[in-house]
Amino acid sequence: MKKYILPDMTWPEIKEALKTASIAIVPVGAQEQHGYHIAEGCDSYRAKEFSALLAEKCFPKVVVTPTINFGVSPHHMDFPGTISLRPDTFIALLEDVVSSLKQHGLKKFLFINAHGGNSAPLGVAAETLARRYNVEIAHTKFVDASKKTLSKEIDSKYFGHACEREISECLYLAPGIVRKDLIEKGDMNDDAFALKYMKSDFVKVVYQFNEITNNGNIGDGTKGSYELGEKIIQEALTNIAEFIEDFSSTNR
Ligand SMILES: [Zn+2]
Repeated sequence: MKKYILPDMTWPEIKEALKTASIAIVPVGAQEQHGYHIAEGCDSYRAKEFSALLAEKCFPKVVVTPTINFGVSPHHMDFPGTISLRPDTFIALLEDVVSSLKQHGLKKFLFINAHGGNSAPLGVAAETLARRYNVEIAHTKFVDASKKTLSKEIDSKYFGHACEREISECLYLAPGIVRKDLIEKGDMNDDAFALKYMKSDFVKVVYQFNEITNNGNIGDGTKGSYELGEKIIQEALTNIAEFIEDFSSTNR
């Protein structure tokens, strides 16, 4: 299958690609702790590999930019290796990506985000840049496009970080970053104040990850599998590819 991945292309190849490709997909990840059992590039690998699959599915309508390998992860800073951008730095970085690509004629952008901590600053970036540069911007935390599978297949009370969902995605997209012999359940601090309100539908408490879990993960990673990963990723691919079809053909 063919796909347009900008860092793997020459400028004449890109010039040719831009005759059909109207959307820039920007994979957005993070460098942050993921427990004992997933390497810290987890979110960047997932964003990159998911975007590559999307590019195959939506060829020749999209190009994929280099992955943003750093995200906004201050809540993971108590664990070694985490590198966090300030929200302002993150937004400035995205601005430079958008303004550069606009100069090459791209006017539609889809940010494929793999890290929850990026969602709020990404929303600010999207709102600001769409208007500042007169471009169309959409963004998704791509597992949100897999709601059916998640509600059917996952029953842990808390999940969403280095859990069965994320391990499964990694086993499907980037198996080399999973330490299979070290997979364990989240060692939760059940009486933590932040945990008490984690699933609240009316209030968000700012917290550090080590307040709620001692080993850095939540959920039950032992329930992760390649098969579950395939279901999650395929549902998200189908839904987001459908969106891309609509996004590419609509002029507003
Ligand atoms: Zn993650």
